[in-house]
Amino acid sequence: MLCPLCKISDTKVLDSRDEDIFVRRRRECLKCNYRFTTFERVDPPSLKVIKRDGTQEDYDHQKLARGIKLALEKRPFSCTQTDVIISQIEHAIVNNHKKAIDSKEIGEIVVKKLRDVDEVAYIRFVSVFKKFGSAKKFQKEAEKFSGK
Ligand SMILES: [Zn+2]
Repeated sequence: MLCPLCKISDTKVLDSRDEDIFVRRRRECLKCNYRFTTFERVDPPSLKVIKRDGTQEDYDHQKLARGIKLALEKRPFSCTQTDVIISQIEHAIVNNHKKAIDSKEIGEIVVKKLRDVDEVAYIRFVSVFKKFGSAKKFQKEAEKFSGK
């Protein structure tokens, strides 16, 4: 894993701790000695997402992470804090539903968590998610807002 500060050097693991489906790791950059914490997934959860039209697709960690990152864009959170928020949301999604979950329910979990951490991110996510009802459409819309 690359150092988030200098983005040049690889990092070593100082400490590893299992936290359910995540491993919490203390890492240190081999070059600049920057220390940070990561939450890394042990196994990709085998979870199905039921879409609004009733079809199912595999749960996609990247998709979830993208949506949350967009909502938190330009808010006062570091990459590590953002990753922790994503991990906590994913934890709630994966833990409560063993086999399948409605995409709507995922949205509600995200909304609930964002409301706890940042009001602006919450309003951003809710306004677009409610209107469009899917993370993909939300992403497109959020990209418009951020001028991409
Ligand atoms: Zn570094």
